[in-house]
Amino acid sequence: MTRYVYRFGGGANDGAAGDKTLLGGKGANLDGMASIGLPVPPGFTIATTMCARYYEEGEKFPEELFAEVANGIAHIETVTDKKFGDATPTGNGPLLVSVRSGARVSMPGMMDTVLNLGLNDQTVEALAATSGDERFAWDSYRRFIQMYSDVVLCLDHGAFEEALEIAKEDRGFHLDTEMTANDWKALVAKYHELVVEEWGKPFPQDVHDQLWGAVGAVFGSWQAERAKVYRRLNNIPGDWGTAVNVQAMVFGNMGDTSATGVAFTRDPATGENAYYGEFLINAQGEDVVAGIRTPQYLTKDARETAHAKPLSMEEAMPVVYGELAAVFDLLERHYRDMQDIEFTVERGKLWMLQTRTGKRTAKAALKIAVDMANEDLITQEEAVARVDPSALDQLLHPTLDPDAHRDVLTKGLPASPGAASGIAVFDSDVAEKRAEMGESVILVRVETSPEDIHGMHAAKGILTARGGMTSHAAVVARGMGRPCVSGAGALAIDAAAKVCRVAGREIREGDLITLDGSTGEVMAGSVPTVQPELAGDFGTLMVWADKVRRMRVRANAETPHDCQVAREFGAEGVGLCRTEHMFFDDKRITWVRQMILAENEAGRRAALDKLLPEQRGDFVSIFEVMTGLPVTIRLLDPPLHEFLPHAEEDFASVAEAAGVGIETLKRRANELHEFNPMLGHRGCRLGVTYPEIYEMQARAIFEAALEVGSKTGAAPFPEIMIPLVATKRELELMKEVVDRTAQAVFKEQNASVEYHVGTMIELPRAALKAGEIAEVGEFFSFGTNDLTQTTLGVSRDDASRFLTTYVDKGIYARDPFVSLDIEGVGELVQIAAERGRKTRPNIKLGICGEHGGDPASITFCESVGLDYVSASPYRVPIARLAAAQAALKARG
Ligand code: ADP
Ligand code: MG
Ligand code: MG
Repeated sequence: MTRYVYRFGGGANDGAAGDKTLLGGKGANLDGMASIGLPVPPGFTIATTMCARYYEEGEKFPEELFAEVANGIAHIETVTDKKFGDATPTGNGPLLVSVRSGARVSMPGMMDTVLNLGLNDQTVEALAATSGDERFAWDSYRRFIQMYSDVVLCLDHGAFEEALEIAKEDRGFHLDTEMTANDWKALVAKYHELVVEEWGKPFPQDVHDQLWGAVGAVFGSWQAERAKVYRRLNNIPGDWGTAVNVQAMVFGNMGDTSATGVAFTRDPATGENAYYGEFLINAQGEDVVAGIRTPQYLTKDARETAHAKPLSMEEAMPVVYGELAAVFDLLERHYRDMQDIEFTVERGKLWMLQTRTGKRTAKAALKIAVDMANEDLITQEEAVARVDPSALDQLLHPTLDPDAHRDVLTKGLPASPGAASGIAVFDSDVAEKRAEMGESVILVRVETSPEDIHGMHAAKGILTARGGMTSHAAVVARGMGRPCVSGAGALAIDAAAKVCRVAGREIREGDLITLDGSTGEVMAGSVPTVQPELAGDFGTLMVWADKVRRMRVRANAETPHDCQVAREFGAEGVGLCRTEHMFFDDKRITWVRQMILAENEAGRRAALDKLLPEQRGDFVSIFEVMTGLPVTIRLLDPPLHEFLPHAEEDFASVAEAAGVGIETLKRRANELHEFNPMLGHRGCRLGVTYPEIYEMQARAIFEAALEVGSKTGAAPFPEIMIPLVATKRELELMKEVVDRTAQAVFKEQNASVEYHVGTMIELPRAALKAGEIAEVGEFFSFGTNDLTQTTLGVSRDDASRFLTTYVDKGIYARDPFVSLDIEGVGELVQIAAERGRKTRPNIKLGICGEHGGDPASITFCESVGLDYVSASPYRVPIARLAAAQAALKARG
């Protein structure tokens, strides 16, 4: 027969294994604490499996549960030597219990705990007589009626609170603690009236009815709307169910030698190895967190640091405090992690009511993991596994001073982490100019395009009204390590008038604003920031992560500065150097335009000749920074129209600079217009139609490699990558161009370097035909941004309009441009990896899409055996940690 009730405390530990799946988190840990000999009030847990059963039976309890629960109550009665519902005025008094919900993971939205259950008009008198404290007995009863009416009977709790306030006011009291036994008695009478008024029946006097009402309410709360919403948001399956814990009451409200408190075994904000917590003398249950009275500090140190008057627990109750401190240490050794603890002191005796792994900030997580490994409490590998890689993001960027005031104007998407303050500027040229003059600038745009690169680079932060987490602004900002808030739809930006309106206020050019790219908040004025700390614990954890990691981590970087940052963050090469960004500066863009506007190959070559030395210079500086490491350079990818002006007013000046008539420029721009440029004339299609472009780029790469090789003695290792390949023939043609150019350069210079030619796999056809393509390509890099677009048939620049709804409705678990669609796109990656390796066993495989910095996607990359992941420079440490965790998981 399936068992549903598991006893704990008093030497009877039925759930000895502390199984959270069965007992829920709270029940498992109550059992765990009792089994290591800690003082836990006895009780029992109704297993999570009963929750499902309860719903199967049409929200009724199966017959066998009644007997099991009766046994559970008998267990508590034996251990406490009290009887449930006992109204005799002598002896040990009536048994009171708490009824507490507890799912596998702690879950707001579940039923609140009911305390003091078992009190009625008779037992309250018995409690008063046996405890010798009438005031305590009636205080407990009024608390019970109020809680039970609220969480079990679901009556309007406002009415009860109001009655309490009026009762205090009538007596001229401010604090509950000032109320006398008679005051509480009168309030109980009033509460009885309220229950009849609101519920139509008197308050349940039968203690068993009380108990079953509370148990039913716990199970009922599992399907409450707010619990369902929470589960949906946190991916908690609906069939887990909740457990119910029924436990003997202990009383923190029995006078000045009694207290209740909450504590962490280490500081959850900083991670410092010091006890941290609060307690209240003569209080019960949630009084500490409810803010009815100001709680007191746990330790003397904390009280002194805060210059607080009321004595700390360490000072006021030194003996019990000493016991509590010993319990903290025991619990940390037992659970091998920082614990969040609830305790009560009843007339000088300590009781433990809860322990669980404590929530902590990213900073604390890092410090606690490293400290615990150094204390030999956990292994270095466990330390690596414990820190959430995404949380590192918070640590790698400046953050807003948590104590500073924030005047929040609006909220957009947290597109790129970090915080920045500066003057609002609505135009990239102005941004650049004002930044050159030494001002901190926040670039505010409706959305950004490649033409804004210089403005984005000059800005300290980027704010857009449109676009999602993978909009141009978001992707580029993350790559540059600039904080970015995108899609702040409430902003009405009038760039021409240099003003933006939001929430009835105006931001003009030059006004100070602040962005928090980690929360999406946009604030008026300047908010002070705190700088990140990259050495210390962070550095230590990274060294440990690198020891267990199999995959290499590279960076997506295209400027010497980004490469430098990436190296400092531990990048082991460049996985994606996009060359188009190199063409946007004032001088070069003119030549690029001349090339685009040229009527024939000779004209194009003349323009490309001017670009060659510039491009070579770019590669020289990148190779210099990346000496000894591989650099993957992607040849030109975007459609050419991106290089032409879009605004009517720019045409004249551009035409003049390029040395053509304005009509020619307009005609050519018209010719280049495409209905769907992302699927148009771009990628290797440019190289196939205008091989001289790729030839120039290849030449620049080889000349730069030879130059840096002879200068430094360490020849760089260029990997030349052809974008948007769908067929083997495309790659063959492009490889011929590159190889031919290499031979020419090597002959001219009488020297050579090693290089590879490979391709991005970013079209479904390429993934399917990877076996054939690998006959030519020496490496594959999965361009999962485009591969996601083309596999899902979703344009990432337009997806923000419906993707949120899609994620809400569970069509995709997460934004597929942020976290790889493993089932669909992932399968293509897997197919391509398998087929590519079959043809060329040592083919190098990597990923260079945005997913290369996403932990879940990195876990997938490990499972298909990719050689490396490539992420934007600021995400390199995240990728190192995530790759290490993936390797640990793969080892099992
Ligand atoms: P939550 O999950 O909201 O923390 P709990 O079930 O832990 O709810 O109950 C909240 C508080 O109620 C506990 O911190 C404790 O102070 C009090 N409490 C619960 N059970 C008991 C008990 N058996 N005796 C005394 N106090 C209790
Ligand atoms: Mg609790
Ligand atoms: Mg692409």
